[in-house]
Amino acid sequence: MIRVRLHGRGGHGVKTAGRIVGSAAFHAGFHGQDAPVYGAERRGAAVASYAWIDRGPIRERGVIARPDLIVIADETLLADPASGVLAGAETATALFVNTDRVEALALPDSLRSRVIAADLTSRTLAALGRAAALSASLGAAAVRLLGAVPLDALLQAIRDELTAIGVAPTELGKNEQLARDVFALLQPLAFADTGKSLSLAAQSAPAASERTGGSMAQVGYEGVMRGTPSILSGGNSAARHTGAWRVQRPVIDPALCSRCGLCFVQCPDGVVSLDAEGYPVIDYDHCKGCLLCQRVCPVGAIHEERETRAW
Ligand code: SF4
Ligand code: SF4
Repeated sequence: MIRVRLHGRGGHGVKTAGRIVGSAAFHAGFHGQDAPVYGAERRGAAVASYAWIDRGPIRERGVIARPDLIVIADETLLADPASGVLAGAETATALFVNTDRVEALALPDSLRSRVIAADLTSRTLAALGRAAALSASLGAAAVRLLGAVPLDALLQAIRDELTAIGVAPTELGKNEQLARDVFALLQPLAFADTGKSLSLAAQSAPAASERTGGSMAQVGYEGVMRGTPSILSGGNSAARHTGAWRVQRPVIDPALCSRCGLCFVQCPDGVVSLDAEGYPVIDYDHCKGCLLCQRVCPVGAIHEERETRAW
């Protein structure tokens, strides 16, 4: 079985990318499963999704502790140990990272030779006009690397899954073209297909949740501290820089601001303060980039900029 774990931030489309992988495998004649895990369930927070592909029925559920392929939508997750991006990476065949600066990534030397990098964000921005709408490009990258799933199955999966979440028909063609471009950009990994099972080559150890018999599966387990909200010490929220979750940055133009204070009142995280003259000031260490302030501003004084730190 091939196990794929995709990591990103809420808003990247990681759940849909996982569905595209599972659906593309199905269209290619394999068995496929996929499931998301949301964690904090907020835009910009770390999220993950899982996909399993095999020739036979897949009975494995739960977390993928030992993935064959790790797909990372946002390089800044590598600097956030709580996101668990590199968990089990020591036996993964490959890690794909969406980045344009692979040399600067915070990666252990032991993993560098297995890293495959491409700047999906720029391609997605050029194709769709939105940097964070990564589901088609991420799904295409994962499917291409798996090697066993052809392009037509990928495109059918993209049509199915994007239609299911309400993407307009006019946008489907753009997403399909984006997927074609990513598919052509990457080289597939070597894989083995016995007709009864599927695997990526060069796995250095069997996965912990390998099937143990004809009908039994061992389910992976994550400790309760990871599976439940945990307060490990009090009064340290300020030390958690949720600004790292931001995909787009709100920027206030003082020349347009009427000092109405709506952004100050409406910010759900209370990170807008007022200076001595009543102008709003954003605490970028803790602004998560939800852009509600932009929506409530009555005079259009807040615009969004691509968050260079996160991309
Ligand atoms: S409302 Fe604006 S300032 Fe507050 S967290 Fe959202 S984007 Fe940041
Ligand atoms: S909502 Fe707009 S106009 Fe009002 S204080 Fe904020 S930036 Fe200024």
